[in-house]
Amino acid sequence: MAEAVRGSIAAPIRTEQVAHLLPATAPRPERARRIPFWKGLLCYWLMPGRLGPHLAVGTWKSALAAHTVSVLFSAGIVGYILLTNYANAMQSSGLHGIRVALARTVIELAVGTTSTSWNWVPPLLTVLLVPMAELALVAVAILAMPWCAGGDSALSAFRRSLKNVYWTTTALLPGSVGCLAVHLLQPTGLEPGLLDGAEILCLAAVSAMILVFSFLVLRMLIAGAKRYVGDPTGPAFAPREPLCDQCGYRITGLPSAGRCPECGLLLQDSLPGGRRQPTAWERHEFSPRGFLELVRLQGHILRTPAFFERLPVHAGHATARHFWWGTFLLIVLGSLVVTNLMQWVNWYAISARTFFGYERGEGVTSLVIAFAVPFGAQAMMLFAACLWAQFRLGITDYRVSATVCYYASPFIWPLTLIILVTTFVFISNVGDVLDQLFRVTLLGVDLTAAELFALVMILLAAGSWLYWWLRLCRALRAARYANV
Ligand SMILES: [Zn+2]
Repeated sequence: MAEAVRGSIAAPIRTEQVAHLLPATAPRPERARRIPFWKGLLCYWLMPGRLGPHLAVGTWKSALAAHTVSVLFSAGIVGYILLTNYANAMQSSGLHGIRVALARTVIELAVGTTSTSWNWVPPLLTVLLVPMAELALVAVAILAMPWCAGGDSALSAFRRSLKNVYWTTTALLPGSVGCLAVHLLQPTGLEPGLLDGAEILCLAAVSAMILVFSFLVLRMLIAGAKRYVGDPTGPAFAPREPLCDQCGYRITGLPSAGRCPECGLLLQDSLPGGRRQPTAWERHEFSPRGFLELVRLQGHILRTPAFFERLPVHAGHATARHFWWGTFLLIVLGSLVVTNLMQWVNWYAISARTFFGYERGEGVTSLVIAFAVPFGAQAMMLFAACLWAQFRLGITDYRVSATVCYYASPFIWPLTLIILVTTFVFISNVGDVLDQLFRVTLLGVDLTAAELFALVMILLAAGSWLYWWLRLCRALRAARYANV
């Protein structure tokens, strides 16, 4: 009898129970430092990672002041460059030349705006330019929000993102100084249309400057506010109640060797060390095997929806972000290789029309398609998904949704392929061949084969966009109750 009682008391004591609270997922944030205004203004483009987080929690006044100073300064330099160019074209130089150029510009603008019936358009555009540019900055801040997730609330991340965008406009200072340097050093008095060594060097320098400037701006936007500094307020700085990973049932105090009473999932699976384990990419990121894992994971994520049930979402954010960059790099590389191959195929087909296998416009097109389209699409998708996760699934910690989105980046591959095929057909002569092939009547509309092809491609693109969105939503749902 005594033994039986002892046994029944002893059993629950021996059984380990699920802890009442799990520790906070973000470390205690660093204290915010006050950065002197001039230091932010002049040095932010050089060290966005170090200064950015502190500037992004600073005052609105200094962010807006830095933005205004940078815009006015660069506008002054651009105005000076345009006017001296104009003065040079009119064969007069010096201060007098600039004054004449300014007067002529005003007169020409005045004549131009009164001579057509559309005369209200240019003044309207000029008036709207500033608010439109400012709205565009807000849009950039919204798109950059997932990269600004630091464990604080969405509103706080938005505020930091917008201030960071304002501080990012200080890149205009070195940018406009670079433009001025090129303007002052550029060779003059060349025959138009003739490329000589100096001019090619100048073009190369300008291209390199544009690339470096774009890289700096991107780095400031993404690295600037990715860390949160200040008071530890936000969803990731407080301890959490452990939930069942699958159904969200509160599992506090249940014996950890058991199963969820609601859905039957092993409680161990919901806890650290359970089914959410670091990815192969996380383990080998910086080793030679890393690149192999990056490529392998692309296919694995596309094929295995259960991947997101095994992904730790409260840790490894930097690794996830690196995976996103890796995917982006693969897409850019793949697109560049494919578009260049296309150019060569095209060149053999119509060599007379091309210059080194490239028409200038096509070169720009392929760069835009390879770089800007995937980047813009990813940024838009990331933001929309974070918002959806917050309002529909209650994931208030943007780091969780951002981590899922980073690992969900391979879902863009079908869309990328469709865009590449369509571009190939329409910049090569395949489109012309298709045009001659046959005609069909669809719902009373007469279509050529090329138009039919375009229609099919638009439908396929819409379908692949939908596929991306649905897979992303499914991935986010799988991370909804994650403890790890
Ligand atoms: Zn459950």
